[in-house]
Amino acid sequence: MIFGKEKEPVILKENSTAEEQLIALMELSVMAKGKVKEDIEQEIRNIKAGIAGEENIIFELKNSHIPMYILRDIYIEYEDYKAQIDFIVVTKKLTFIIECKNLYGNIEIDNKGGFTRITEFDGKKKREGIYSPITQNERHIALLRKRNRDMMNPVSRVLAKLTGYNFDDYHKAVVVIANPKTVVNDKFATKDVKDKVIRADQLIEYINAANAKSKAVVSNDREMEDFAKMFIDMNKTNPTDYVKKYRDQVEATCPECGGELVLRSGKFGEFYGCSNYPQCKYTRNKPKE
Ligand SMILES: [Zn+2]
Repeated sequence: MIFGKEKEPVILKENSTAEEQLIALMELSVMAKGKVKEDIEQEIRNIKAGIAGEENIIFELKNSHIPMYILRDIYIEYEDYKAQIDFIVVTKKLTFIIECKNLYGNIEIDNKGGFTRITEFDGKKKREGIYSPITQNERHIALLRKRNRDMMNPVSRVLAKLTGYNFDDYHKAVVVIANPKTVVNDKFATKDVKDKVIRADQLIEYINAANAKSKAVVSNDREMEDFAKMFIDMNKTNPTDYVKKYRDQVEATCPECGGELVLRSGKFGEFYGCSNYPQCKYTRNKPKE
């Protein structure tokens, strides 16, 4: 390039609420006992895997040498819709909505687009249906599409019509399988579904190919940056308290033996006592309302 060097990827937002969840769960697990502790530890493993998967994706994007703005973990609320988007990648042509899956085990996609996770433990195979990340992505895109349409004023509506602007020509949703060990069996999946699921090491190739095929108008640097910043402005703190469920369970278990705490009444009023009484004599005052 004569007029300046080609812009490298820019990470506009790298933090994720998963990291906060992880810290909160690790604190809880210290106090937890028994089954709740096991559940929390499983959840910690899942979150850690999710974070590792996302870091895989950031690594690929950072080293792509494609001018792009990278946004991680964007939460958008619009009317009654909510979207927790793992990655939004703004390039000169297309904007990519990325759902990252880092699962333990293998994945099977059926002819209806259903996802099944297969894990093996002690030689026993376990199959469980999982919420389709493609559907998840479609919901995210639907929210953005609706918001985009509602935000248009009469002038931009006319302009869109004149230039033939179509939201779907500028946005592409893709599911990225981040764990290199995961085997994806998609032999029964339709081509349409197959095209929407890729592996992390195919992401850059995918972005390049999609942009090459796209008829979208090329943005300049300033437009790209403004567009990416618009998503930052849309981003809110996700109000879902993912840790609450576990916190409540920990509070309802005896910190000494892991038994269930039950409400009892004594001569000084109500209190919580361990269900393993008389073996366990733990008690806790009932909080005043
Ligand atoms: Zn107890």
